Amino acid sequence: MLKLFQHKSASQQAPPNPGTGGAFFTWGFNPWRVLLGVTFIGLHLLLDRESVVSRVWVGTDAWYPPAGLELALLIGLGLSYAPLIFVAGFVTSMVNYHLSPFGAIIWYVNGLIALSYAAMAAVLRRYIRLDGILRSLQDVFRYIFFVMAATLALAFGGALSFVWSDKISLHHYFAAALNWWIGDSVALFCLSPFLLVYVTPWLKSRLTGSIPFELRKLSTDTDRWSKPRDFQNSLEFLAQGASIVAALYIALGSRFAGTYQLFYLFFLPIIWIAVRRGVRGATAATLMLNVGTIFMLRIFPQSLTRLVSLQILMLIVSVTGLCLGTLITERNHADRELRESEGRMQALISTIDEVVFEFDVNGIYKNIWTTDETLLIRPKSQLLGRHASEFLSPDIIDPILKIFGEVLETGKRQSVEYSLPLPVKTWFLARVSVIPSSDGRPTSVCMTARDITTSKLAEEELRRTTQAAESASRAKTEFLANMSHELRTPLHGILGMTDLVLDTTLTPEQREYLEMVKLSSDSLLGLLNGILDFSKVETGKLELENIEFLLSERLFQTLKIMQFRAEEKGLELSWHSDAGVPEHLMGDPARLRQVLTNLVGNAIKFTEHGEITVQVQARELTQQTAELHFRVQDHGIGIPSDKHHLIFDAFTQADSSTTRKYGGTGLGLAITKRLVELMGGTIWVESEPGQGSSFHFTAKFGLVRTPASVVPALLAQGDML
Ligand code: ADP
Repeated sequence: MLKLFQHKSASQQAPPNPGTGGAFFTWGFNPWRVLLGVTFIGLHLLLDRESVVSRVWVGTDAWYPPAGLELALLIGLGLSYAPLIFVAGFVTSMVNYHLSPFGAIIWYVNGLIALSYAAMAAVLRRYIRLDGILRSLQDVFRYIFFVMAATLALAFGGALSFVWSDKISLHHYFAAALNWWIGDSVALFCLSPFLLVYVTPWLKSRLTGSIPFELRKLSTDTDRWSKPRDFQNSLEFLAQGASIVAALYIALGSRFAGTYQLFYLFFLPIIWIAVRRGVRGATAATLMLNVGTIFMLRIFPQSLTRLVSLQILMLIVSVTGLCLGTLITERNHADRELRESEGRMQALISTIDEVVFEFDVNGIYKNIWTTDETLLIRPKSQLLGRHASEFLSPDIIDPILKIFGEVLETGKRQSVEYSLPLPVKTWFLARVSVIPSSDGRPTSVCMTARDITTSKLAEEELRRTTQAAESASRAKTEFLANMSHELRTPLHGILGMTDLVLDTTLTPEQREYLEMVKLSSDSLLGLLNGILDFSKVETGKLELENIEFLLSERLFQTLKIMQFRAEEKGLELSWHSDAGVPEHLMGDPARLRQVLTNLVGNAIKFTEHGEITVQVQARELTQQTAELHFRVQDHGIGIPSDKHHLIFDAFTQADSSTTRKYGGTGLGLAITKRLVELMGGTIWVESEPGQGSSFHFTAKFGLVRTPASVVPALLAQGDML
């Protein structure tokens, strides 16, 4: 940032960084904008003059501050300020360099500078997240390289004007361009960042009335430069300022300065401040050092060779400060984000009420998050870094470790239940999932553990109660079965004796009474048989026979008996077997008959007029087995759809009034359903109140391979029924 023009007088130098005028004047009246415009032009003039004066004084200018001012303005406040840069440059050229406003050079140089800076700001605003401050080291590198490249082009373009105006010879063109380049670069590395951090946010809020979100975030930055919060911090703040002054004095003013090259001392305060205060501190310190250098050069002039090294060193120090400061700020942000995400995690864990563990693949506790340490087997501090098997017995930890391995291998989440003696037995439901790693080879798992003791106890209680209820129900069923069995013996006695008495000579009145006794005993016997069957099915004691039988013969026998009952009620009972139905079957004909009797019996019972039909179809036939589909259809009272499932439960009737009107116990369908299931089939009903019912069931039978000749006679007979 030192412009080396020792061989030229100030008046010979070309105007450094002028600007252009335009949109600035078209805005609506805002006192802040007007003030900004006037101040900018004034500052531009003054800073440029300062450079000119310093050149006169020490023979060179250390850096060119107006360049920093221009870029900060365009980046911070927007490209619409480009005309202001042209105007400021124009005024500066006239006042400081006495250029004629009517010459071509003044227009060329200021136009070139305004356009170059506007283009530079446009690129930086677009490709680097610069709106406010450089936020990552990557952005800083981009900024440095882009700024250096752009200013290099500008410097070589701008220095042409010196040759054009005969202010320098072609021979000095290269040195002049280089000087311009370094001078601008230093300003862009130390003044622009400083202004972007400290001044433009404030200006922006004045001009627009609001602070952009990013800048608001900056103002709450963790960097401590702007907030000497306590005494110690203030002391450090002072010491850091003093270190800059000391470095400047020792390197440029002390008696060692002449003998030794002590410029490297500048790094010490810059590094210290950057490390402690991040990018905000670093930009301020770099600016202070650069401004201080100019003052020191005025007081203690240096030789040209030393000035050249100083100029290059200042460039390096500025870049170092910017990089280091950004790096630290970036790290501070990362730290803060980490702390925030830790906080979020804690908040999350306190709301979900779970303990969260991070385990490595071997079962070492890497992290534990909980709001209730009593849920841990030991305090968290004792667990971290230790192997879980040190605290948990193998029967607890081994299955969990096995799951860790599986989860890491498959990537799929798994759950496991375990209990800990804490000191009362506490149950946990753990969910294990993989923690992804950046190299794609995860080595740790996350395990959340929820205290499920209450629900576990409730579950156990429920199981106990269910078991108790089941065994009570079994005992009742067995009692019922025993009672039925015991009751049947005397009942058979009553029936037998009644038959014997009925065979003797009796008065008509006595006969009528005895027949009523026989009828009641018969129905009591039917009921007891039903209960016995049901209890046998319930207790799993009922076994089916597997014998050969002729289907049509059995159907005929069964339905013939039922037909008499139907006729008594004036109903018609017919049955039909499809042609594909096999005749020779293996199974339990007695139970098939019981099922059909129940269903047809119900159909007769619940039907007042019309026909009852029984139909048989083959559903699935293989070489060895046949699945048959039976349908019993009536035109009776029907069943409401919400009762369709209930009627297959024991002791349930579709309507309690049926008991009063039709009698029955609600056992028939329950037994039928279980018998059908034992025969490998299912039972269902299609029915609507008033429309009649269709009871369907399927049953599986074995097939007997015999010549199919015996069949048809009976079948034909059945069809005609
Ligand atoms: P029960 O007939 O001895 O009451 P079931 O288990 O055989 O017992 O039948 C249960 C209930 O299902 C009957 O009470 C009746 O309400 C209904 N139900 C069964 N079959 C029919 C049918 N064919 N038509 C109308 N309702 C029926």
